[in-house]
Amino acid sequence: MEVREGAVTIEVPETRHGASEGSGDGVFYNPVQELNRDITVGVLRAVDGTCDSYLDAMTASGIRAVRAAAAGYSVSGCDVDDAAVELARSNLERNELAGEIHHRNVNAHMHETTHDVVDLDPFGTPIPFVDAAFQGARRYVCVTATDTAPLCGAHFESGVRSYGAVPRNTEFHPEMGLRVLLSALVRTAARYDIAATPVLSHVSSHYVRTYLRLDGGAQAADRLLEELGYIDHCQRCLWREHDRTLIADPTVECPECGQSTWTAGPVWLGPAHDPGFVEDVVDSVPDDADTAEKARDLLASVAAELDRPTHYDQHRLYKRWGEPNVAMDEFLESLRTAGYDASRTHYGGTTFKTDAAVSGIYDALH
Ligand SMILES: [Zn+2]
Repeated sequence: MEVREGAVTIEVPETRHGASEGSGDGVFYNPVQELNRDITVGVLRAVDGTCDSYLDAMTASGIRAVRAAAAGYSVSGCDVDDAAVELARSNLERNELAGEIHHRNVNAHMHETTHDVVDLDPFGTPIPFVDAAFQGARRYVCVTATDTAPLCGAHFESGVRSYGAVPRNTEFHPEMGLRVLLSALVRTAARYDIAATPVLSHVSSHYVRTYLRLDGGAQAADRLLEELGYIDHCQRCLWREHDRTLIADPTVECPECGQSTWTAGPVWLGPAHDPGFVEDVVDSVPDDADTAEKARDLLASVAAELDRPTHYDQHRLYKRWGEPNVAMDEFLESLRTAGYDASRTHYGGTTFKTDAAVSGIYDALH
């Protein structure tokens, strides 16, 4: 089956259940992630003054390698599957693009080679590949995680096991998943004296995607570790508080309503985006990308988001208050009139961020 993405056309295997599902065995192509790949091309174009080589670590059909090569990168791919290697090579040839597809274990490959950009796009958790990725990358590591249930605490034990952090299933689950992932990535990089700073992150259609800029040096890595900490949360009244520390000192009883609280962490509490970087990527998303408009809207909303480690869900608050909700624009304006910062988030139309506490939000709206 032929698929067109941006300026390239590739061959992908037919699946038993149609194009919308990956079989998980052999060669995997996920059409749902075209938005993810279009944004990746935007990132690659935005950083092409400093980056030249790109490794598509989970090559499969070779779609990422082909698109990076079309964006002018010197590309490599890697896969252990015979059929995938053959298909990726033929997809480069079909588009008259150069690139090397290696038939080997990708962790071994990342230990022995370096690239400016290393892209991890596995099915499930990226954790088995991140140690090698930070050693095989010079400038940027890009990571997709599709295991959102472990990341946001819905599959608790699996989340603890994979990420070495306690995730909690809160009403801000996209933010929780992102920050549990970032915590694990920042800690992994720090073990090699690498500071991995998130410059762009988004949570879309059941996956988390993040781009980390790498800087060398133990001190830079130490400074990032200071951005790790814990979030205390009340499931009943939605009160929450965060604390930058590696020694947990949880609040066990909600100061607003007396309910026992939950603590998550260590999670990443620093910025998940560099707004200037995100704006550069908005300008670099190619016009011929199928999702160009959607990608630019998403990135504009990411750039405008307040730098807060949790978000609220407006419907949850109004349900708790037992009142019909007001329109989001009016709601945010009321918060600003009361002197708070407030923004929408890219997670959905009912989500917002503010520096107001839950009691402050109530007072601003009443
Ligand atoms: Zn409470």
